[in-house]
Amino acid sequence: MSADFKKLPALDRLLAWPQVKALTAAYGETAAKDAARAMLATARDEIAKGANADDLAKPAILGQRIEALLAARFSPSLRPVFNLTGTVIHTNLGRAIMPESVIAEVAAAAAQPTNLEFDLATGRRGDRDSHVEAQICRLTGAEAATVVNNNAAAVLLVLNTLARRKEVLVSRGELVEIGGAFRIPDVMARAGAKLHEVGTTNRTHLKDFAEAVSDRVALVMKIHTSNYEVQGFTKAVPEAELAALSHNHGLPFVVDLGSGMLVDLAQWGLPHERTAQETLADGADLVTFSGDKLLGGPQAGIIAGRADLVAKIKKNPMKRALRLDKLVIAALSATLRLYEAPERLQQEVPVLRLLTRPLEEIDAVADEVAPALADVFGDAARVETSACNSQIGSGALPVDLLPSRAVVIHPTSGKGGWLNRLAAAFRALPVPVIGRISDGALWLDLRCLEDAAGFISQLGELNLPGRKRS
Ligand SMILES: *Cc1c(COP(=O)(O)O)cnc(C)c1O
Repeated sequence: MSADFKKLPALDRLLAWPQVKALTAAYGETAAKDAARAMLATARDEIAKGANADDLAKPAILGQRIEALLAARFSPSLRPVFNLTGTVIHTNLGRAIMPESVIAEVAAAAAQPTNLEFDLATGRRGDRDSHVEAQICRLTGAEAATVVNNNAAAVLLVLNTLARRKEVLVSRGELVEIGGAFRIPDVMARAGAKLHEVGTTNRTHLKDFAEAVSDRVALVMKIHTSNYEVQGFTKAVPEAELAALSHNHGLPFVVDLGSGMLVDLAQWGLPHERTAQETLADGADLVTFSGDKLLGGPQAGIIAGRADLVAKIKKNPMKRALRLDKLVIAALSATLRLYEAPERLQQEVPVLRLLTRPLEEIDAVADEVAPALADVFGDAARVETSACNSQIGSGALPVDLLPSRAVVIHPTSGKGGWLNRLAAAFRALPVPVIGRISDGALWLDLRCLEDAAGFISQLGELNLPGRKRS
């Protein structure tokens, strides 16, 4: 065994090999040396487990392994993928993709010093919220606004500022859990507020709220039931009535809009999602919503409404911990500016463009992609196109589906595991392709495929399960 270990070169000798020297030039001495050391340790383990030392110790093999280690270490973990899942705003795939003009402004803000907290008129210290506050007010009709890391942070900050050690009235039908451990009761507890549940799961009346009001209550809250819909014998109190009741008792009325929107989606044939301005006009004192759901911008949480409440929120020390950085401020400001020219929104904001993509256009992508896939699979699978439904995602309009078209890959020999291995092979492509397995086939919903040529160009690298690579 120890004789076998000796077949491996010593570290210094290894580093002097031409192939490894080239790696030192490419990646730097520190990384190359570290990778060489790690590779030797792994090789020793393998020899201890019975691997053939003569094979392992070949310079070409050792060099390749060091190179592979370095390449992996120096390639980004966060990578672009093709989202063919059929969920347009996919939280696990990073939600909204940014409009081009937004990307340019983010790059500029990243590359140079900016007036982030510097008032160019006076030369004095400025407020980072000032870059977006006027826009948010103009677009929503709010008196004031502030922005934080995401909508979860917005809800946390509002509750902590306005309802610490006090009760918050919420309908039992709205105690939502959004994916990724955001549960209203837990957020409420962390914010130091006491949840006071009102009504029942399916029906909540105005008088349920009226009876719950006491001097322990700090605010009334309505939460968008983003990812589910209660159907059947249901009743929720309209926002205007809840607002009036709250105001009669001198309580602020806060609405967590979830996705939130600034324009009427019905103009593009999508289901109507209540806008921030409608909710504020109905009497909400504050609304909170996300930047990267339907709005189609960066991850952010927007808080808009009454000036006195926003001023209190901005003074909360937690605001400092939840504030936005310059890149997100640049992205949010650029996104909101697109909403100032609503005629161009649908084309310029990718989320809206994809949600409203005409079926004929998706069909055309299917006609381009399906033959290329059929070529790749030969007789290993049957490739066809099929009508399917995309969903909006991220808790926006959960029950509304958008007619779309998919390529569907049916295995010809229904061997167990083949489909999972096929899905894994698609994920292993240079730009991983994420589809969805359903009804014994792999479905690739083409609604979000805008770069069909890029998709097709990498299909030659698909490592079909059960087929040896040449
Ligand atoms: C999505 C959502 C949140 C969380 O928003 P993030 O921006 O993801 O933090 C909170 N409340 C509701 C109702 C939501 O739909």
